[in-house]
Amino acid sequence: MTGSRINLYSDTQTQPTPQMRQAMARAVVGDEQRNEDPTVNALCERVSQLLGKEAALFLPSGAMCNLIAVKTHTRPGDAVVCDRECHIVRAECGGIGLVSGCVIDPLDTPPGCVGGTFTADQVRQRIEHLSLGVYAPPPRLVCVEQTHNFAGGTVWPLQQLQDVASAASAAGLATHMDGARLLNASVATGIEAREQCAACDSVWIDFSKGLGAPVGAALAGSRSFIAAARRYKHMFGGAMRQAGIIAAGALYALEHHVQRLADDHANALHLARALADMPEIDLVGGLPQTNIVFFAVCKPGLDAGAFTSACRERGLDLSLLHGRVRAVTHLDVTREQINQAIGVIRQVIG
Ligand SMILES: *Cc1c(COP(=O)(O)O)cnc(C)c1O
Repeated sequence: MTGSRINLYSDTQTQPTPQMRQAMARAVVGDEQRNEDPTVNALCERVSQLLGKEAALFLPSGAMCNLIAVKTHTRPGDAVVCDRECHIVRAECGGIGLVSGCVIDPLDTPPGCVGGTFTADQVRQRIEHLSLGVYAPPPRLVCVEQTHNFAGGTVWPLQQLQDVASAASAAGLATHMDGARLLNASVATGIEAREQCAACDSVWIDFSKGLGAPVGAALAGSRSFIAAARRYKHMFGGAMRQAGIIAAGALYALEHHVQRLADDHANALHLARALADMPEIDLVGGLPQTNIVFFAVCKPGLDAGAFTSACRERGLDLSLLHGRVRAVTHLDVTREQINQAIGVIRQVIG
């Protein structure tokens, strides 16, 4: 257990609650590889409804959802258009290169746009640029990230997202949504998840982030897309056996841990407002929309690394990414602990 430490390191470190563990222990299970695990089947049914897609596939991790989705949409040599700082580019060990043999054609967020997002015009220009006779890699796929992790849990404005997907499909490209935290976006905006991903051909959600389940993610799309993805799932060793044990945790999370994401967002905002009042701290990207707060420490003699070590010594875990500090709220962090964290941070910079 996390003990009395305050864990703002990541929403991946949540502990399954006693009630979730009970649901997992009670799960009816079968052979998942043969589609005979009733709990996994129930979860896939639930996810396909939640996301408004024909079918869904249970996978061990979000990274595998991205890996399989890109592989299913593309052929080797194709170009994938996405944000430069997205998880697929920055945090998946280059798996897209190994497994799909694709070239990344990265876009930068233009001024005036929400961090981590781009516009339909950028997509159209890039597609035009990549359509020069036989020389350029053919653009095949646009990827969007909702919420955007490294931009600070930012949410795509719905119209902008729909415009991007329309620009892609008008040119014959598919759109894939890395929706690791799509439900955070949904709770933050009040826009249903299925509406947010309606324009995307594929989408997945992670159960092991703020939803608090120990393992698993689910990829959704058309029946034919999921049939093709299922083959890769087997090929990559992602097919499981009595996986209902973990699917039960995911089902429990969908039942009990979605609406409470609002508490995590309120806690992140509370933390960010306190940080914004500290002259030695620069919030990156302004106040958070969801559960991720990024900040820089601007104090001579105290770099971000020394800052996070000093916090760790005082019982507060934060992460260090690209020289900036990241704090993530989740279901194992109470408002009282956020207040304690603010106290620790004041002490360390004071
Ligand atoms: C965590 C994360 C992933 C990877 O998910 P895992 O379940 O950890 O493999 C992919 N994309 C984003 C945006 C993430 O935050």
